[in-house]
Amino acid sequence: MLQGLFESLFGNKHEQDLKDLLPILHEINALESWARKLEAEDFLSRTREMKAHLADQGDMSEILPKAFAMVREAARRTLGERPYDVQILGGIALHQGRIMELKTGEGKTLSSVAPAYLNALEGRGVHMVTVNDYLAKRDAEWMGPVFEYLGLSVGYVIGQLPLDQRKDAYDKDITYGTNNEIAFDYLRDNMRYSRREKMQRGHHYCIIDEIDSILIDGARTPLIISGPTQEDTRKYVEAKKAVQYLQECAKDPATDDYPEEPVGDYKVEEKNKKISFTDDGLTSLESAFQQQKTFSGSLYDSENFEYIHYATQALRAKLLFHKDTHYVVKDGMVEIVDEFTGRILHGRRYSEGLHQAIEAKEGIKIQQRSRTLASITFQNFFRMYNKISGMTGTAATEEKEFQKIYGLDVAVIPTNRPVIRNDQDDVIFLDEKAKFNAICDEIQEVSRKGQPILVGTVSIDKSERLSQLLTKRGVRHEVLNAKNHAREALIVAEAGAEGSVTIATNMAGRGTDIKLGGNPDFRARRAAGSDADDAALEASFAKEREKWIPQNRRVKELGGLYILGTERHESRRIDNQLRGRSGRQGDPGRSKFFLSMDDELMRLFGGGAANMKSLMARAGLQGEVAMNHPLLNRAIERAQNKVEERNFEIRKHLLKFDDVLNEQRKFIYDQRDSILQDDELIQRVLASVENSLEGFSEAYGSRKVLGEAGVAELADHLKEELLYSLPGKTSDYAHFTAEQAGEHIRALIRDELSSKEQDIGKDVLNLALRREYLMNIDNGWQDHLENLEALREAVYLRSYAQKNPLLEYKLEGFQIFDEMIQRIRLAVARKLILVRTKGLEQPAAVQMPRGEVKHQELNLLSRSGGAAPSQGARAASGGSGSGSRKGPLPGQKAATVVRSQPKVGRNDPCPCGSGKKYKHCHGA
Ligand code: ADP
Repeated sequence: MLQGLFESLFGNKHEQDLKDLLPILHEINALESWARKLEAEDFLSRTREMKAHLADQGDMSEILPKAFAMVREAARRTLGERPYDVQILGGIALHQGRIMELKTGEGKTLSSVAPAYLNALEGRGVHMVTVNDYLAKRDAEWMGPVFEYLGLSVGYVIGQLPLDQRKDAYDKDITYGTNNEIAFDYLRDNMRYSRREKMQRGHHYCIIDEIDSILIDGARTPLIISGPTQEDTRKYVEAKKAVQYLQECAKDPATDDYPEEPVGDYKVEEKNKKISFTDDGLTSLESAFQQQKTFSGSLYDSENFEYIHYATQALRAKLLFHKDTHYVVKDGMVEIVDEFTGRILHGRRYSEGLHQAIEAKEGIKIQQRSRTLASITFQNFFRMYNKISGMTGTAATEEKEFQKIYGLDVAVIPTNRPVIRNDQDDVIFLDEKAKFNAICDEIQEVSRKGQPILVGTVSIDKSERLSQLLTKRGVRHEVLNAKNHAREALIVAEAGAEGSVTIATNMAGRGTDIKLGGNPDFRARRAAGSDADDAALEASFAKEREKWIPQNRRVKELGGLYILGTERHESRRIDNQLRGRSGRQGDPGRSKFFLSMDDELMRLFGGGAANMKSLMARAGLQGEVAMNHPLLNRAIERAQNKVEERNFEIRKHLLKFDDVLNEQRKFIYDQRDSILQDDELIQRVLASVENSLEGFSEAYGSRKVLGEAGVAELADHLKEELLYSLPGKTSDYAHFTAEQAGEHIRALIRDELSSKEQDIGKDVLNLALRREYLMNIDNGWQDHLENLEALREAVYLRSYAQKNPLLEYKLEGFQIFDEMIQRIRLAVARKLILVRTKGLEQPAAVQMPRGEVKHQELNLLSRSGGAAPSQGARAASGGSGSGSRKGPLPGQKAATVVRSQPKVGRNDPCPCGSGKKYKHCHGA
C-alpha cells in the first residue's frame, strides 16, 4: 500500500524527503525474516557486538537496518505490536536528527524506540523527553520491556525522586523524563561542589515528544531555580556597628585629595562610589569587631574574612548613599530613587549586599529575599545536545521556525491509514453569549444520539463557564484542566466511549490515546486492581477487549469522536492538535469550531471586527444566528498567519537577547567544571596575581622607573586589588621599572603562597581554594543574573534614544560579565593572600540551595508589543527588577553595575559579534 501511495505523489519537499528514506526502509523490511529467527539471547549478543562496533569508530548507518529490524521484532514479541512502515520511516527521521510529524494516535511512542536504541549503543545515554511526569513513567514502563529484551537498561526521572535514584536513572542507557526535570537537574548539577554529586553524564542525544509545545509554545518561559539567600542578616548589623569607630583618612587641604601616605582607616572615592581600607583601617576594624564580640579570632581567619566585605558595604551605605537622594524609606522598605527623574524604582534592589547594608543603616528589617539561583530557556538547554530530534502531531505549520532557529528539519510522515475525519467549516456568532448557547445546544443534541464529544477550550476559566451551563441543562460531562495528569489520562482515555462529554483545555490529557468505544486497557487495569499478577491482568484484558469490540463498532457507526472547538487559537498548530485527537488510525470523526465576534482572535482583525459586528447587527442578524462561509475560514487563516509571524519575530528577538546570557552561562559552567577537576588551583591564583601586576604595568608604562610617586601608586593598586601590603620601604622599589617591580612582587607572593601550601598540605589547600572559587562563582553569577535582567529593561528604554537595544545589551552585558570575572579572580586571590592558613583547614560547610522550579515570562515582551507578562511571572522573578517594569529609565540600573568605559581589550573581537576587532568597530 505504501508503495502505491508514494507512486501517486508528485514530489513536494516532504514527499521527496520520504522517498529518500525508502531504500533504508526496504533494507529493514528485507531483514525481517532474519530477525524472526533470532533467539532471545541473540538479541543480547547482537547488542554487545554493535556496541563494540561503535566503540571502535564504526559507522552507525551501517548497523541501522539490523538495529531497526531487531527493534521491530523485539516490539512484536514483547508488546504484540509490530511497528508499521510509517513508524519505521519516522524512526529513521528521528535518528537523522529531524522532527517527525506523525498524526496523533499513529504511535509515536513506539516509533521512537528504534532510534533511541541505535543511538544508545554509543553508550553515552539517550534522553526521552515527555511533557509530564505521568507520561515519563508510563512510557518508560510501556517501552521498557522492548529495550530490556534488546539488552538495554531504562530509567525515568520524575519530581520527588530521591537524588540517588535520580542519578541511577541517568546512568541507564535510556532515560525518560520531562523537559522540566531534565533541565532542572542540569542547572542543579552546575551548583554542586563535587564532581561525584553530578547527576547527568552529558547531553548526547534526545528525542523530544511534543517538541512544538516545548520549543515554540514554551519559548517565552525560561526555567528558573529560585531560593532564599542563606546569608545571616545579623552580619550587616554587626558591620554597621563596627565601622562607627573608623576614621576617614585626612585629606591634604591644598589639593583636597589624600596624601601619598594617608593617615586614617579608609579612603572614599565619591566619583566611583568606592571605599578602600588602609592597613591601619583593617587593624581598627578587627579590634572593633573583637570588642563588640562579633568574633574573637582574627579578621584574617577564614570564617571572619567576609566581614571585610560587610564593612565595606556598611561604609558605602553610610557615606555614599543618602536617604531621599539615592533612596527613600517607605513602609519599612528601602526603595531606590532614579537619579535623573526622581522617580521611585519600585521593587528594585542594589546588588552585592549594598541594599541590606542600607537597610541596616536605616534600622529597618533586613529582607531575606528569594533570588534567582540559576535559569535557562528550553531552547538553549536543548541546543546543548549533540543531536536533537523531536516528535509531534503538528509541526509543518512552524517548519520555518524549526529550520531557522534550531536547524531542525521536519519530516512529515503519512498516516498508516488515510484520515477520514470530517473537518467542517467554522460557524460564527455575533457575541459570546450566543455562541455558548449554540455550543450547549450542539452538545446536548450530539450526546443524546450517543456520539462522544470532546470540547476544547482556551482556558480553565472558559471550561468552567461551559461546565456550569451544561450542568444547568442537566448534561453529564467531565472537565479536565491539566491539573492531575494521571487522573486526567484515565478520564480522557474514556472520552471516546458512547455518550461521553469531555471538556478539556489544550494541555489536558495530552499524550493519551482516545480509543473509540472507550479504552479496554485502562478498564482492564482498573478492574484487575493494582496488585493483580500478570495472569490476572491478561484475563482481565481479554474480558474487557471482548466487551469493547461491539462498543467500538457502535461508536464508529455514530460517526466517531466529535471535536468541538469553542474558539480558534492564535496558532493553527494548536487548532490542529485539537482536531487531531479524533480520526486516529483511519477512524471516522468530525471537527468543528464555534466562534464569536468577541473572541480574542477576532479582535486581532483590528477595526475590521467592530465594523463587521455592527454590519452584522445592522443587517438584522441577531446573536443566535450563525454565519458560515468558506470565505470566513480563509480570513481567519490569514489572521492566524499574521499572528504566527509576529510571534515568531518576537521569539527570534528574545532568543537573540537570550544568546548573550547563554554564552556567559556556558563559560561560567565550563569554568566551574574545570575547577571541579583542577588539582592545581594555586596556579590560577598566581595567574590572577600576575594579571593584576600586568594591569598595573600596562597602565603605568612597563619601562617607566617608578620613583616615589610610582611606588605609592603601585602600593595603592596592590592594596585595592589584592589587599596586599607592599612589604619594605618605598626606597626598595623606587629605582625599579614597573615591570621589574612586578616581577619582584610576583616572586614574593609566590613564595608566600608556597609556604602556605606546605603548611597545610597541597590537597587541603586545593580543596579550600575550590570551595572558595565555587562560592564566589555562584554568588557572582547570581548577582550577574539580576544585573542582566535590570540591564535588559534599561536598554529597552534606550531605543527611544535611537540606540539599538540589542547591541547595547550585548556590549554592556559583556562588560559587566567581564567585571564579574575580574571580581571573582581577585576575591579568591585576596583571600588566599591574606587569610591565615589555620582558617583554611576548616572550610565552611556549603549547603546546596533548595531551589524551586519556576517559569518566568521574559519581560521583554511587554516592550515589544507582545503580551504583557503575567502576574505569576512577576511574582516569580524575585526581588530585583520584578516590580519595576514601569520604572527604569535610560542609564538606570543597580548602582554596582555602572561603568563608564567598556573594559574590552582594544584588540579583542568586538562583543557586538561583528567579527571585527573592538578598536575598529564599537571601540573606534
Ligand atoms: P501518539 O503518541 O502518536 O498519539 P501512541 O504512541 O499513544 O500515539 O499510540 C497510540 C496507540 O496506537 C496505542 O494504543 C498503541 O498501543 C497503538 N499502536 C502504536 N503502534 C502500533 C502498532 N505498530 N501496532 C499496533 N498498535 C499500535
